[in-house]
Amino acid sequence: MSFTILALNAGSSSIKFALYDVASIDSGQRLSHGRIEGIGSAPHFVARDAEGKLLTEYRWPPGTSVAHNDLLAPLLTWITSHIGMESMVAVGHRIVHGGETYAQPVLLTDPVIADLTKLTSLAPLHQPHNLAAVQAMRKLCPNLPQVGCFDTAFHHSMAATVTRLALPRKYSDEGMRRYGFHGLSYEYIAGRLRKQVPALASGRVIVAHLGNGASLCAMHDGRSVDTTMGFTALDGLVMGTRCGSIDPGALLYLQQQHGMTASEVKHLLYHDSGLLGVSGISNDMRTLLGSHHPHAREAVDLFVFRVAREAGALISSLGGLDGLVFSAGIGEHAAAIRAAVCERLAWLGIRLDPVANTTDAVVISTPAPDSRVQVRVMATDEEAMIAVHTRAVALPTSPATP
Ligand code: ADP
Repeated sequence: MSFTILALNAGSSSIKFALYDVASIDSGQRLSHGRIEGIGSAPHFVARDAEGKLLTEYRWPPGTSVAHNDLLAPLLTWITSHIGMESMVAVGHRIVHGGETYAQPVLLTDPVIADLTKLTSLAPLHQPHNLAAVQAMRKLCPNLPQVGCFDTAFHHSMAATVTRLALPRKYSDEGMRRYGFHGLSYEYIAGRLRKQVPALASGRVIVAHLGNGASLCAMHDGRSVDTTMGFTALDGLVMGTRCGSIDPGALLYLQQQHGMTASEVKHLLYHDSGLLGVSGISNDMRTLLGSHHPHAREAVDLFVFRVAREAGALISSLGGLDGLVFSAGIGEHAAAIRAAVCERLAWLGIRLDPVANTTDAVVISTPAPDSRVQVRVMATDEEAMIAVHTRAVALPTSPATP
């Protein structure tokens, strides 16, 4: 009998899952996988088998407002009946915030869950959904080990100067510092790079995780040196609905001149800003790239400008750059965005091969020494990383990841 591990990534706009045979986790090969997308507008559930063949599909009527929790329960019921509970040995969860304490994946016991619940205010868009999935799974299978894998953990290698906020010390003493996020994605990419191009992996690399949420990570020898997200996942790049870095004075202005409450400002920054706010059309890059509306163009231009500007800052943190990796939905698929970012970074000696770029090739820069920085496109896989960690924590006698 084979044993399976379920990896759950319950985010705000989508819930993703993947099932793995414990024996073949390192290959990244999934037994099945799926996602619910369009949460909040038109939820759509799709599950596929290992070969990508459709297993099931369900669309809620457009405009249906289904609470996140009401989507989770049927999803988990489908998964557990699909795989059969007797084979499942552990569940791994993506947990966005591990705070100062959780620098490693951990078994989700009652005290750990209580600790993580306290961090909700630091990641209000994600943490409640992550923890809701943990509770739903506990209800369904109370005795199954559950493991929390943290997006902040990969950035624990950042130096104290990098993580410090320039606020009075009493605030840093209570945990106000830059944490960084998207760590599971960066850890996965760092591992793949080490396997595929060890010489580059040991150098200075910026990984651009450009999805609905977006950030950059500066890595040296596969370890996080700096990143664009900070105390919360609002900082840094322009995102689907999040503003990214903003003059703190602008927030005071909104409160003082517009009489906005703290929760109204929070909603504005997390849900109504970014690509959606600037374009007034959509948070979705594909839609904006397909639109001729000038506001869509302005939103895309701002997104690109900010990726390049933040990359400039990270290059300074690294003391130079050997490689640039594009990843996640936009990074993996939007050739026009990659070209525009690289054009802004041409001063570094980056030269793109336009054919390689438009075909989403693995290496999209021209060969060295023509391009002084190697530019790559790499698919990220947070669920695979969750599965690896979950096996290590829940089944410590299983073979370690090479
Ligand atoms: P999430 O953060 O929700 O996991 P993804 O990594 O799936 O997000 O990225 C979603 C983003 O990727 C959306 O803005 C979407 O429009 C964009 N995207 C996906 N495919 C393409 C494509 N072919 N061209 C341009 N943008 C794309």
